[in-house]
Amino acid sequence: MSEPMLQVQDLRCAYDGVPVIFGVSLEVNRGEIVAIVGANGAGKSTTMRTIAGLMHPVGGSVRFLGEDVSRVPANQMIRRGISYVPEGRRLFAKLSVRENLELGAFAEKDRASVAERLEEVFSLFPVLKARSAQIAETMSGGEQQMCAIARGLMSRPQLLMLDELSLGLMPSLVEKVLEAVAEINRRGVTVLLVEQMVQEALEIAHRGYVIQTGRMVQSGSAKDLLDSEEVRKAYMGM
Ligand code: ATP
Repeated sequence: MSEPMLQVQDLRCAYDGVPVIFGVSLEVNRGEIVAIVGANGAGKSTTMRTIAGLMHPVGGSVRFLGEDVSRVPANQMIRRGISYVPEGRRLFAKLSVRENLELGAFAEKDRASVAERLEEVFSLFPVLKARSAQIAETMSGGEQQMCAIARGLMSRPQLLMLDELSLGLMPSLVEKVLEAVAEINRRGVTVLLVEQMVQEALEIAHRGYVIQTGRMVQSGSAKDLLDSEEVRKAYMGM
């Protein structure tokens, strides 16, 4: 079998010398949706931020497309094909939807290509086209989340990493946003997502990992995790 697109091995991370990730390993294959699920503070965002190059591990490695990228900074990771949509959306609040989206394609100088990408993301999220001149902070939470995902797609990533999409969204919107993620994946983008809404995430994922206080405690097909009594008890209130 060919090498996984993303391979994280024995990752260890710390903040100011205080360890919070104690040897996390995971793989993402081309074409998959992989979900990392777990409770508040388990280390999901730290793992994502490290893969995205926003912080560097104190041990272990991150390999992407066959290369060790453990020390590659975030701006280079975008050029290499990873796009990270952080928790809390982080849009440029005072800029319009279109300006936010265009900034997602900052590395592309060809205007025609940027216009083409805009049309692609508008076809996924028609509401963004209708509101392209609207100032980002005046949109609803769900619209802002769609804009954040769309901005992440504007760099035409091979791997899209999504951190806690459901945060602050009502359940019907969570479903809508996750359905859009499934469509993005059908269009050929590999997805790694982190979620506290475990059931909803596993319903669109192919495989999943359960993280607990900085360690992976379970992994498997999304279906097996959804059926797992431990997962159901711990994360789905059953
Ligand atoms: P959440 O969904 O609540 O963000 P999480 O699973 O993503 O949870 P992390 O944010 O990765 O968890 O946090 C893992 C641990 O690292 C927690 O104990 C947290 O307090 C700590 N931590 C996170 N960010 C920092 C930081 N900037 N400085 C110090 N400690 C941090």
